[in-house]
Amino acid sequence: MKIEDYIRDIPDFPKPGVIFKDITPLLNNHQAMVETTDQLLKLVGDSKIDKVVGMESRGFFFATLLAARLQAGFVPVRKPKKLPYQTIAQEYDLEYGKDILEIHADAIQKGEKVLIHDDVLATGGTAHAVCKLIEKLGGEIVQVNFLMELSFLHGRKKLEPHQVKSLLQY
Ligand code: AMP
Repeated sequence: MKIEDYIRDIPDFPKPGVIFKDITPLLNNHQAMVETTDQLLKLVGDSKIDKVVGMESRGFFFATLLAARLQAGFVPVRKPKKLPYQTIAQEYDLEYGKDILEIHADAIQKGEKVLIHDDVLATGGTAHAVCKLIEKLGGEIVQVNFLMELSFLHGRKKLEPHQVKSLLQY
């Protein structure tokens, strides 16, 4: 089974010039979803993981599946004012302007081993902000992994020195 067959390109979404990588066909097919989870687990190998962090919102799907298989907890990172408990925040740059991501202040304990997951690595700005949040809480980032990487945007450079892995490269 080829995972890429279940990823749909949507041109000019959400704005002109962007080719949106739609993973809903992948989620829609049980076998494709399980195969993708298995392949992501292979990227992690035997590393011990205490928490899997997924970013809103498409990172949640496979981060949760990975957490269950790794016998780890799942932690959501969300846009401002979505998380109900005490949070810490990280600002980051967008193409035009800035945005903020938040995490619950008690979601990760000092020294816990953390896997970060999202669907797409583009410029790396989002994942970089998530790394900073985890570091602020004292977590140890074991790996940052993605379903796919838009290599021409060089996002992995921004995430150095963390280990970055992706299933598909475009
Ligand atoms: P970036 O911060 O530039 O690495 O962008 C990554 C975030 O934007 C991820 O949470 C992705 O879900 C989303 N994203 C960026 N580019 C795309 C794309 N071409 N298709 C789908 N999602 C994207």
